[in-house]
Amino acid sequence: MPLVTKETFLGTLACRTYGWHLRHTNDQSPSIADQFRMEEGKEVHRRARAIYPDGIFAGDATKTAGLVADPTTNTIFEAEFQVDGYVTRADILRREDDGWHLIEVKSNVNTDDKLVDDLTYTTMVLRRSGVNLVRCSLMLISKDYRLGMPDDALFVLTDHTDDVKARADEFEKQWESVRDTVNQAEQPEPRLIWACRNCDRFKADCLGAGVNNHIFDLPRISEKKFNDFVAMDAMTIDRIPVDYELTPNQDIVRTAVRSGKPVVQPSLADELAAIRWPAYYLDFETFKTVIPLYPDVAPHEAILTQYSIHICSAPGQVDDHREYLADPSRDCRRELTEQLIADLGNEGSIVTYSPYEKTMINKLADVFPDLAGRLGRCIERLYDLKDVLSKCYYHPCFHGSYSIKKVLPVLAPDMTYEGMEVGDGDTASAIFAKMAMGRNSKAEMKKIRRDLLTYCGQDTLAMVRLHERLVDIACD
Ligand code: SF4
Repeated sequence: MPLVTKETFLGTLACRTYGWHLRHTNDQSPSIADQFRMEEGKEVHRRARAIYPDGIFAGDATKTAGLVADPTTNTIFEAEFQVDGYVTRADILRREDDGWHLIEVKSNVNTDDKLVDDLTYTTMVLRRSGVNLVRCSLMLISKDYRLGMPDDALFVLTDHTDDVKARADEFEKQWESVRDTVNQAEQPEPRLIWACRNCDRFKADCLGAGVNNHIFDLPRISEKKFNDFVAMDAMTIDRIPVDYELTPNQDIVRTAVRSGKPVVQPSLADELAAIRWPAYYLDFETFKTVIPLYPDVAPHEAILTQYSIHICSAPGQVDDHREYLADPSRDCRRELTEQLIADLGNEGSIVTYSPYEKTMINKLADVFPDLAGRLGRCIERLYDLKDVLSKCYYHPCFHGSYSIKKVLPVLAPDMTYEGMEVGDGDTASAIFAKMAMGRNSKAEMKKIRRDLLTYCGQDTLAMVRLHERLVDIACD
């Protein structure tokens, strides 16, 4: 019988159906971005092990048992334990005060419940295996680490012994039932819970599969409203009573779903008229790594690497296109910022499709205070098209999302990201990071740069087309 792992145990605690699938369903291979995160995790673990030169790599249960029994062993890496149908690997075990100090290595800067649950699972299995744990810690990434510092400056240890031991008592009460659930032949009957909203199975093959206008398609639905709808047995938006109070943005969605037609608010024309010409349609791409690649950059800090600007003199009338893509071998933010300021001119709206560009321009102003005044004037010209769209328009085919990739097929169906080598921001970030790490040949880099420029340019052209279509709708 396959052993219960940390992932299946914690997944089953959240939802028994989800945990069962982790054991029984072969999911698709990881995305480029997922693969990159896994590679980063391996490097973080390698650096953590380097701090303990006396450490011995175990890697399986037999070798672990021998090392634990040997009093001359002080530190064990990847110590594996199997007991009563469960398995776990402890990242680092250190002999301490007649017992052992369990250290789980994580790529995060801050502690959260999920990390403590991970540590709790390993604690539970080690305790059941007879290991005397005197301390349980998370080894996290230090936000103060900078490129060039020694490996031990990369980490901070946080002690969670008391919390984890109390949680492990609670976890252990579920030992048999989780093991039985994940090993049963039949999938447990799914039950709609708040966690379904962020579950990757929901629309793929679970309760949301094939369901149009599910209540989770309601923008920014709160847990309280979700519970109200479940109590009313209103699982789709059309079943939400008309007198149930929703936010204005949610109300547009309910009206559109109930009528089966798009809803256009009268304010759309006025909102669009606020754009000043020429308009600069702006999109940024950034990347971040756990371990910084450039000087004076913090772990996980987003670094702006690329922008695209389509310049229009009227809706849909493209006069010019400007773009920038950094040299990945160095931090180009200063050069990028100066060119960005020049490319954005002095007047006209700067149209974005998220508040992210504003956040990043503010960060540039922090990094380069001498440019803060000119960047501040750019911020005053920002116009968020997504914000206007979500206030003034909804089409039932948006299926609850105003993401540009959901909106475009409805409003500008000839614009598509299908077939593009780089088709989303996570992929763009991961492949830039790999270039910055020197993992690509010159020929590969040439192609990747072309793909990145095409992707970012597509984002701003999509905004141009979207805006043009909205002007038509407002005039109808
Ligand atoms: S969609 Fe909901 S019921 Fe289905 S696996 Fe996910 S959390 Fe469980």
